[in-house]
Amino acid sequence: MTTATTPNARAATAARLKGLKCRECGTVVPIAPVYVCEECYGPLEVIYDYDEIRRQLTREKIEKGPRSIWRYMPLLPVSEDCIVTLHEGCTPLVPAPRLGKELGLTNLWIKNDAVNPTYSFKDRVVACAVSRAKEFGFDTVSCASTGNLGCSVAAFGGISGMRPIIFIPADLEPSKIVGISSYSPTLIAVEGNYDEVNRLCAEISATKNWAFVNINLRPFYSEGSKTLGYEVAEQLGWRAPDHVVLPIASGSLLCKVYKALHELETLGLIGKVNTRVSGAQATGCAPVASAFLEKRDEIVPVRPQTIAKSLAIGNPADGTYALDIIRKTGGGAAMITDEEIVVAMKLLARTEGIFTETAGGVTIGTVAKLAKQGVIGRDELVVAYITGNGYKTVEAIIPTLPKPIVIKPTLKEVERALGV
Ligand SMILES: *Cc1c(COP(=O)(O)O)cnc(C)c1O
Ligand SMILES: [Zn+2]
Repeated sequence: MTTATTPNARAATAARLKGLKCRECGTVVPIAPVYVCEECYGPLEVIYDYDEIRRQLTREKIEKGPRSIWRYMPLLPVSEDCIVTLHEGCTPLVPAPRLGKELGLTNLWIKNDAVNPTYSFKDRVVACAVSRAKEFGFDTVSCASTGNLGCSVAAFGGISGMRPIIFIPADLEPSKIVGISSYSPTLIAVEGNYDEVNRLCAEISATKNWAFVNINLRPFYSEGSKTLGYEVAEQLGWRAPDHVVLPIASGSLLCKVYKALHELETLGLIGKVNTRVSGAQATGCAPVASAFLEKRDEIVPVRPQTIAKSLAIGNPADGTYALDIIRKTGGGAAMITDEEIVVAMKLLARTEGIFTETAGGVTIGTVAKLAKQGVIGRDELVVAYITGNGYKTVEAIIPTLPKPIVIKPTLKEVERALGV
Protein backbone atom coordinates (compact mmCIF):
# COMPACT_ATOMS: atom_id res chain seq x y z
CA MET A 1 0.00 0.00 0.00
CA THR A 2 1.09 3.56 -0.65
CA THR A 3 0.81 6.15 2.04
CA ALA A 4 -0.73 9.53 1.31
CA THR A 5 1.21 11.49 3.87
CA THR A 6 3.95 14.07 3.24
CA PRO A 7 7.46 13.63 4.76
CA ASN A 8 7.06 16.40 7.38
CA ALA A 9 3.73 15.26 8.70
CA ARG A 10 4.99 11.68 8.66
CA ALA A 11 8.08 12.57 10.70
CA ALA A 12 5.96 14.41 13.29
CA THR A 13 3.59 11.46 13.57
CA ALA A 14 6.46 8.98 13.83
CA ALA A 15 7.97 11.03 16.67
CA ARG A 16 4.83 10.95 18.82
CA LEU A 17 3.52 7.42 18.06
CA LYS A 18 5.56 4.64 19.62
CA GLY A 19 3.57 1.79 18.09
CA LEU A 20 0.81 -0.62 19.03
CA LYS A 21 1.04 -2.38 22.39
CA CYS A 22 -0.78 -5.55 23.44
CA ARG A 23 -3.00 -4.81 26.44
CA GLU A 24 -2.47 -8.36 27.72
CA CYS A 25 1.22 -9.28 27.26
CA GLY A 26 2.78 -5.89 26.48
CA THR A 27 4.32 -6.85 23.11
CA VAL A 28 4.88 -3.75 20.95
CA VAL A 29 4.52 -3.83 17.16
CA PRO A 30 4.92 -1.06 14.54
CA ILE A 31 1.94 1.07 13.48
CA ALA A 32 -0.08 -0.96 10.91
CA PRO A 33 -3.71 -1.91 10.23
CA VAL A 34 -3.64 -4.76 12.78
CA TYR A 35 -5.68 -5.22 15.94
CA VAL A 36 -4.69 -8.45 17.69
CA CYS A 37 -1.38 -9.47 19.23
CA GLU A 38 0.34 -12.30 17.37
CA GLU A 39 1.79 -13.63 20.63
CA CYS A 40 -1.38 -13.94 22.72
CA TYR A 41 -4.36 -12.67 20.64
CA GLY A 42 -4.84 -9.75 23.08
CA PRO A 43 -6.14 -6.39 21.75
CA LEU A 44 -3.64 -3.78 20.56
CA GLU A 45 -3.65 -0.16 21.68
CA VAL A 46 -1.83 2.91 20.29
CA ILE A 47 0.98 4.11 22.57
CA TYR A 48 2.53 7.57 22.49
CA ASP A 49 5.75 9.30 23.46
CA TYR A 50 4.35 11.66 26.10
CA ASP A 51 7.69 13.48 26.53
CA GLU A 52 7.57 14.38 22.85
CA ILE A 53 3.89 15.41 23.06
CA ARG A 54 4.58 17.48 26.21
CA ARG A 55 7.01 19.56 24.16
CA GLN A 56 4.36 20.26 21.48
CA LEU A 57 1.16 20.65 23.46
CA THR A 58 0.11 23.44 25.84
CA ARG A 59 -3.31 24.60 27.03
CA GLU A 60 -2.86 27.77 24.95
CA LYS A 61 -2.08 25.81 21.77
CA ILE A 62 -5.14 23.62 22.25
CA GLU A 63 -7.38 26.63 22.93
CA LYS A 64 -6.19 28.28 19.70
CA GLY A 65 -6.77 25.09 17.67
CA PRO A 66 -9.70 24.23 15.40
CA ARG A 67 -13.17 23.93 16.97
CA SER A 68 -13.24 20.17 16.45
CA ILE A 69 -11.60 17.04 17.88
CA TRP A 70 -8.49 17.98 15.86
CA ARG A 71 -7.47 20.60 18.43
CA TYR A 72 -6.06 17.51 20.23
CA MET A 73 -4.35 16.18 17.09
CA PRO A 74 -1.00 15.38 18.81
CA LEU A 75 -2.90 12.92 21.03
CA LEU A 76 -4.56 11.21 18.06
CA PRO A 77 -2.92 8.58 15.78
CA VAL A 78 -3.25 10.51 12.51
CA SER A 79 -0.95 12.75 10.44
CA GLU A 80 -2.16 16.30 10.00
CA ASP A 81 -2.36 16.15 6.19
CA CYS A 82 -4.54 13.02 6.21
CA ILE A 83 -7.34 14.39 8.37
CA VAL A 84 -10.85 13.73 7.04
CA THR A 85 -13.22 15.95 8.99
CA LEU A 86 -16.84 17.09 9.21
CA HIS A 87 -15.88 19.41 12.10
CA GLU A 88 -16.96 16.82 14.65
CA GLY A 89 -16.55 17.38 18.37
CA CYS A 90 -16.42 20.54 20.50
CA THR A 91 -20.01 19.79 21.44
CA PRO A 92 -21.70 21.65 24.34
CA LEU A 93 -21.07 20.79 27.98
CA VAL A 94 -24.08 22.27 29.71
CA PRO A 95 -25.08 22.56 33.37
CA ALA A 96 -28.26 20.59 34.11
CA PRO A 97 -29.72 22.28 37.21
CA ARG A 98 -33.36 21.28 36.66
CA LEU A 99 -32.56 17.62 36.00
CA GLY A 100 -30.10 17.72 38.91
CA LYS A 101 -32.81 19.04 41.20
CA GLU A 102 -35.18 16.20 40.26
CA LEU A 103 -32.43 13.64 40.88
CA GLY A 104 -31.05 15.22 44.07
CA LEU A 105 -27.73 16.32 42.53
CA THR A 106 -26.33 19.85 42.93
CA ASN A 107 -23.62 19.87 40.25
CA LEU A 108 -24.80 17.81 37.28
CA TRP A 109 -23.59 18.50 33.72
CA ILE A 110 -24.56 17.05 30.36
CA LYS A 111 -22.02 16.52 27.58
CA ASN A 112 -24.32 16.76 24.59
CA ASP A 113 -22.84 14.67 21.79
CA ALA A 114 -26.25 14.37 20.14
CA VAL A 115 -25.32 17.44 18.08
CA ASN A 116 -22.38 15.98 16.15
CA PRO A 117 -22.50 16.07 12.30
CA THR A 118 -24.29 12.70 12.03
CA TYR A 119 -25.96 13.12 15.45
CA SER A 120 -23.97 10.66 17.56
CA PHE A 121 -20.59 10.45 19.28
CA LYS A 122 -19.49 7.94 16.61
CA ASP A 123 -18.28 10.87 14.47
CA ARG A 124 -15.30 11.17 16.82
CA VAL A 125 -14.12 7.59 16.41
CA VAL A 126 -14.94 7.41 12.73
CA ALA A 127 -13.07 10.67 11.99
CA CYS A 128 -9.97 9.01 13.47
CA ALA A 129 -10.46 5.67 11.72
CA VAL A 130 -11.28 7.08 8.28
CA SER A 131 -8.38 9.55 8.46
CA ARG A 132 -6.04 6.72 9.40
CA ALA A 133 -7.47 4.48 6.66
CA LYS A 134 -6.64 7.23 4.17
CA GLU A 135 -3.14 7.49 5.63
CA PHE A 136 -2.66 3.71 5.23
CA GLY A 137 -3.80 4.02 1.58
CA PHE A 138 -7.00 1.88 1.69
CA ASP A 139 -9.61 2.34 -1.05
CA THR A 140 -12.59 0.84 0.83
CA VAL A 141 -13.83 1.71 4.29
CA SER A 142 -16.36 -0.54 6.00
CA CYS A 143 -17.99 -1.46 9.31
CA ALA A 144 -20.46 -3.64 11.17
CA SER A 145 -22.95 -1.26 12.71
CA THR A 146 -25.92 -1.02 15.07
CA GLY A 147 -26.82 2.15 13.18
CA ASN A 148 -24.88 5.15 14.44
CA LEU A 149 -21.53 3.82 13.30
CA GLY A 150 -22.87 3.08 9.82
CA CYS A 151 -24.26 6.60 9.55
CA SER A 152 -20.92 8.07 10.44
CA VAL A 153 -18.83 5.77 8.21
CA ALA A 154 -21.21 6.53 5.31
CA ALA A 155 -20.74 10.28 5.82
CA PHE A 156 -16.97 10.35 6.42
CA GLY A 157 -16.27 7.56 3.93
CA GLY A 158 -18.27 9.46 1.34
CA ILE A 159 -16.18 12.63 1.60
CA SER A 160 -12.87 10.74 1.95
CA GLY A 161 -12.67 9.43 -1.62
CA MET A 162 -12.75 5.83 -0.36
CA ARG A 163 -15.74 3.54 -1.00
CA PRO A 164 -18.02 3.11 2.05
CA ILE A 165 -19.63 -0.34 2.49
CA ILE A 166 -21.88 -0.65 5.56
CA PHE A 167 -23.17 -3.88 7.16
CA ILE A 168 -26.18 -3.71 9.52
CA PRO A 169 -28.54 -6.17 11.21
CA ALA A 170 -31.69 -6.31 9.05
CA ASP A 171 -34.01 -5.40 11.97
CA LEU A 172 -32.48 -1.95 12.56
CA GLU A 173 -34.76 1.03 13.29
CA PRO A 174 -36.06 2.58 10.00
CA SER A 175 -34.82 6.04 11.04
CA LYS A 176 -31.25 4.73 11.32
CA ILE A 177 -31.48 3.04 7.90
CA VAL A 178 -32.67 6.36 6.43
CA GLY A 179 -29.78 8.13 8.15
CA ILE A 180 -27.23 5.78 6.63
CA SER A 181 -28.77 5.58 3.14
CA SER A 182 -28.94 9.35 2.76
CA TYR A 183 -25.14 9.50 2.37
CA SER A 184 -25.34 6.97 -0.54
CA PRO A 185 -22.98 4.24 0.70
CA THR A 186 -23.29 0.58 -0.29
CA LEU A 187 -25.59 -0.75 2.45
CA ILE A 188 -25.92 -4.47 3.24
CA ALA A 189 -28.62 -5.66 5.67
CA VAL A 190 -27.68 -9.02 7.24
CA GLU A 191 -30.32 -11.35 8.65
CA GLY A 192 -28.79 -11.76 12.09
CA ASN A 193 -28.04 -9.77 15.24
CA TYR A 194 -25.13 -7.35 15.66
CA ASP A 195 -22.75 -9.97 17.03
CA GLU A 196 -23.41 -12.12 13.95
CA VAL A 197 -22.89 -9.16 11.61
CA ASN A 198 -19.63 -8.40 13.41
CA ARG A 199 -18.45 -12.01 13.08
CA LEU A 200 -19.20 -11.89 9.34
CA CYS A 201 -17.22 -8.66 8.99
CA ALA A 202 -14.23 -10.17 10.83
CA GLU A 203 -14.34 -13.00 8.27
CA ILE A 204 -14.48 -10.52 5.36
CA SER A 205 -11.64 -8.47 6.80
CA ALA A 206 -9.42 -11.56 6.83
CA THR A 207 -9.85 -11.99 3.06
CA LYS A 208 -10.40 -8.47 1.63
CA ASN A 209 -8.05 -5.54 1.90
CA TRP A 210 -10.64 -3.15 3.34
CA ALA A 211 -10.43 -0.80 6.29
CA PHE A 212 -13.03 -2.04 8.79
CA VAL A 213 -13.16 0.89 11.19
CA ASN A 214 -14.12 -1.26 14.20
CA ILE A 215 -12.06 -4.35 13.30
CA ASN A 216 -8.61 -3.98 11.70
CA LEU A 217 -8.62 -0.19 12.33
CA ARG A 218 -10.01 -0.59 15.86
CA PRO A 219 -6.87 0.57 17.70
CA PHE A 220 -7.02 3.88 15.77
CA TYR A 221 -10.82 4.16 15.79
CA SER A 222 -11.11 3.79 19.55
CA GLU A 223 -8.62 6.59 20.21
CA GLY A 224 -11.21 9.07 18.91
CA SER A 225 -13.31 8.48 22.04
CA LYS A 226 -10.55 10.09 24.12
CA THR A 227 -11.63 13.48 22.82
CA LEU A 228 -14.78 13.19 24.98
CA GLY A 229 -12.48 13.19 27.99
CA TYR A 230 -10.22 16.02 26.75
CA GLU A 231 -13.12 18.31 25.85
CA VAL A 232 -14.90 17.95 29.15
CA ALA A 233 -11.69 18.73 31.08
CA GLU A 234 -11.03 21.79 28.90
CA GLN A 235 -14.66 22.97 29.13
CA LEU A 236 -14.56 22.71 32.94
CA GLY A 237 -11.58 25.09 32.91
CA TRP A 238 -8.89 22.39 32.80
CA ARG A 239 -10.00 20.04 35.54
CA ALA A 240 -11.36 16.50 35.66
CA PRO A 241 -14.95 15.87 36.80
CA ASP A 242 -15.50 14.07 40.13
CA HIS A 243 -17.71 11.47 38.47
CA VAL A 244 -18.51 10.51 34.86
CA VAL A 245 -21.42 8.33 33.73
CA LEU A 246 -20.93 6.62 30.37
CA PRO A 247 -23.03 4.21 28.32
CA ILE A 248 -21.38 0.87 27.52
CA ALA A 249 -21.71 -0.99 24.22
CA SER A 250 -18.28 -2.56 23.55
CA GLY A 251 -16.89 -0.68 26.58
CA SER A 252 -14.38 1.25 24.50
CA LEU A 253 -15.81 4.74 25.13
CA LEU A 254 -15.69 4.21 28.90
CA CYS A 255 -12.08 2.99 28.81
CA LYS A 256 -10.95 5.84 26.56
CA VAL A 257 -12.50 8.66 28.58
CA TYR A 258 -10.60 7.27 31.58
CA LYS A 259 -7.40 7.03 29.51
CA ALA A 260 -7.86 10.62 28.25
CA LEU A 261 -8.15 12.15 31.70
CA HIS A 262 -5.04 10.32 32.86
CA GLU A 263 -3.13 11.40 29.74
CA LEU A 264 -3.96 15.04 30.50
CA GLU A 265 -2.63 14.49 34.02
CA THR A 266 0.55 12.85 32.65
CA LEU A 267 1.06 15.84 30.35
CA GLY A 268 0.59 18.30 33.21
CA LEU A 269 -2.45 19.88 31.52
CA ILE A 270 -4.70 19.14 34.51
CA GLY A 271 -4.06 18.26 38.15
CA LYS A 272 -4.37 14.89 39.86
CA VAL A 273 -7.27 12.84 38.47
CA ASN A 274 -9.59 11.11 40.96
CA THR A 275 -12.56 10.74 38.66
CA ARG A 276 -14.99 7.95 39.48
CA VAL A 277 -16.27 6.16 36.38
CA SER A 278 -19.75 4.62 36.24
CA GLY A 279 -21.23 2.48 33.46
CA ALA A 280 -24.75 2.44 32.02
CA GLN A 281 -26.38 -0.55 30.31
CA ALA A 282 -29.86 -1.66 29.33
CA THR A 283 -31.38 -4.54 31.31
CA GLY A 284 -31.79 -6.42 28.01
CA CYS A 285 -28.05 -6.25 27.31
CA ALA A 286 -26.03 -5.79 30.49
CA PRO A 287 -23.04 -8.14 30.43
CA VAL A 288 -20.77 -5.58 32.14
CA ALA A 289 -23.26 -4.08 34.60
CA SER A 290 -24.47 -7.51 35.70
CA ALA A 291 -20.88 -8.71 36.28
CA PHE A 292 -20.27 -5.60 38.39
CA LEU A 293 -23.49 -5.93 40.38
CA GLU A 294 -23.00 -9.69 40.94
CA LYS A 295 -19.31 -9.16 41.82
CA ARG A 296 -18.11 -11.48 39.04
CA ASP A 297 -14.79 -11.07 37.21
CA GLU A 298 -15.78 -12.71 33.95
CA ILE A 299 -18.15 -11.17 31.43
CA VAL A 300 -20.82 -13.65 30.33
CA PRO A 301 -22.03 -12.91 26.77
CA VAL A 302 -25.78 -12.32 26.37
CA ARG A 303 -28.27 -12.27 23.50
CA PRO A 304 -29.43 -8.60 23.39
CA GLN A 305 -33.11 -7.76 23.80
CA THR A 306 -33.52 -4.02 24.30
CA ILE A 307 -34.80 -0.86 22.61
CA ALA A 308 -31.32 0.62 23.17
CA LYS A 309 -30.03 -0.94 19.95
CA SER A 310 -26.94 1.26 19.73
CA LEU A 311 -25.75 -0.34 22.99
CA ALA A 312 -26.81 -3.89 22.06
CA ILE A 313 -23.44 -5.63 22.01
CA GLY A 314 -23.85 -8.93 23.80
CA ASN A 315 -20.15 -9.83 23.83
CA PRO A 316 -18.31 -6.55 24.50
CA ALA A 317 -14.69 -6.49 23.31
CA ASP A 318 -13.59 -4.12 26.07
CA GLY A 319 -15.97 -5.43 28.73
CA THR A 320 -13.37 -6.70 31.19
CA TYR A 321 -11.30 -3.51 30.91
CA ALA A 322 -14.41 -1.37 31.48
CA LEU A 323 -15.36 -3.49 34.52
CA ASP A 324 -11.87 -3.06 35.93
CA ILE A 325 -11.99 0.75 35.56
CA ILE A 326 -15.43 0.99 37.21
CA ARG A 327 -14.12 -1.07 40.14
CA LYS A 328 -10.78 0.62 40.64
CA THR A 329 -12.18 4.17 40.46
CA GLY A 330 -14.99 3.45 42.93
CA GLY A 331 -17.73 3.97 40.33
CA GLY A 332 -20.95 2.03 39.92
CA ALA A 333 -23.15 0.45 37.27
CA ALA A 334 -26.85 0.07 36.63
CA MET A 335 -29.23 -1.76 34.33
CA ILE A 336 -32.17 0.16 32.88
CA THR A 337 -35.39 -1.43 31.57
CA ASP A 338 -37.05 -0.40 28.31
CA GLU A 339 -39.78 1.45 30.25
CA GLU A 340 -37.22 3.28 32.38
CA ILE A 341 -35.27 4.24 29.23
CA VAL A 342 -38.28 6.01 27.74
CA VAL A 343 -39.09 7.73 31.06
CA ALA A 344 -35.49 9.00 31.25
CA MET A 345 -35.52 10.21 27.63
CA LYS A 346 -38.63 12.27 28.38
CA LEU A 347 -37.20 13.51 31.69
CA LEU A 348 -34.07 14.88 29.99
CA ALA A 349 -36.13 16.50 27.22
CA ARG A 350 -38.56 18.11 29.70
CA THR A 351 -35.96 19.37 32.18
CA GLU A 352 -33.03 20.36 29.96
CA GLY A 353 -34.45 20.57 26.44
CA ILE A 354 -32.22 17.79 25.11
CA PHE A 355 -33.86 15.08 23.00
CA THR A 356 -31.69 11.97 23.15
CA GLU A 357 -31.95 8.51 21.67
CA THR A 358 -32.51 5.36 23.75
CA ALA A 359 -28.80 5.15 24.69
CA GLY A 360 -29.14 8.55 26.37
CA GLY A 361 -32.17 7.19 28.23
CA VAL A 362 -29.94 4.41 29.55
CA THR A 363 -27.37 6.95 30.73
CA ILE A 364 -29.87 9.29 32.42
CA GLY A 365 -31.69 6.30 33.92
CA THR A 366 -28.35 5.20 35.37
CA VAL A 367 -27.61 8.65 36.81
CA ALA A 368 -31.04 8.57 38.48
CA LYS A 369 -30.51 5.10 39.90
CA LEU A 370 -26.97 5.71 41.15
CA ALA A 371 -27.98 9.05 42.70
CA LYS A 372 -30.83 7.35 44.54
CA GLN A 373 -28.51 4.59 45.80
CA GLY A 374 -25.97 7.17 46.96
CA VAL A 375 -23.31 5.80 44.60
CA ILE A 376 -23.19 9.26 43.04
CA GLY A 377 -22.65 11.82 45.80
CA ARG A 378 -25.08 14.73 46.07
CA ASP A 379 -22.44 17.43 45.57
CA GLU A 380 -20.08 15.65 43.16
CA LEU A 381 -19.34 17.36 39.85
CA VAL A 382 -21.02 14.74 37.64
CA VAL A 383 -20.84 14.62 33.85
CA ALA A 384 -23.42 12.43 32.08
CA TYR A 385 -22.51 11.66 28.47
CA ILE A 386 -25.39 11.91 25.99
CA THR A 387 -24.09 10.05 22.97
CA GLY A 388 -26.90 10.10 20.40
CA ASN A 389 -29.83 12.15 19.12
CA GLY A 390 -33.51 11.43 19.83
CA TYR A 391 -34.46 11.53 16.16
CA LYS A 392 -32.45 8.30 15.72
CA THR A 393 -34.93 6.23 17.72
CA VAL A 394 -38.35 7.85 17.38
CA GLU A 395 -39.94 4.37 17.16
CA ALA A 396 -39.08 3.78 20.81
CA ILE A 397 -40.87 6.86 22.11
CA ILE A 398 -43.81 7.35 19.69
CA PRO A 399 -46.15 4.82 21.36
CA THR A 400 -45.79 6.63 24.70
CA LEU A 401 -46.45 10.18 23.46
CA PRO A 402 -49.83 11.91 23.78
CA LYS A 403 -51.61 12.83 20.56
CA PRO A 404 -51.83 16.57 19.77
CA ILE A 405 -55.11 18.38 20.50
CA VAL A 406 -56.88 18.83 17.14
CA ILE A 407 -59.09 21.92 16.70
CA LYS A 408 -60.78 24.04 14.03
CA PRO A 409 -59.05 27.39 13.30
CA THR A 410 -61.25 29.54 15.57
CA LEU A 411 -60.62 31.37 18.84
CA LYS A 412 -63.61 29.61 20.37
CA GLU A 413 -62.08 26.22 19.72
CA VAL A 414 -58.79 27.32 21.31
CA GLU A 415 -60.68 28.46 24.39
CA ARG A 416 -62.68 25.27 24.55
CA ALA A 417 -59.66 23.03 24.07
CA LEU A 418 -57.59 24.80 26.72
CA GLY A 419 -60.35 25.92 29.08
CA VAL A 420 -59.04 29.53 29.09
C1 LIG B 1 -21.37 3.24 20.01
C2 LIG B 1 -22.18 3.98 21.01
C3 LIG B 1 -21.83 4.04 22.38
C4 LIG B 1 -20.68 3.35 23.07
O1 LIG B 1 -19.92 2.54 22.37
P1 LIG B 1 -18.67 1.68 22.91
O2 LIG B 1 -18.66 0.54 21.97
O3 LIG B 1 -18.93 1.28 24.33
O4 LIG B 1 -17.48 2.55 22.76
C5 LIG B 1 -22.62 4.82 23.18
N1 LIG B 1 -23.69 5.49 22.72
C6 LIG B 1 -24.05 5.47 21.43
C7 LIG B 1 -25.25 6.25 21.01
C8 LIG B 1 -23.30 4.72 20.53
O5 LIG B 1 -23.69 4.72 19.24
ZN1 LIG C 1 -0.14 -10.11 23.57
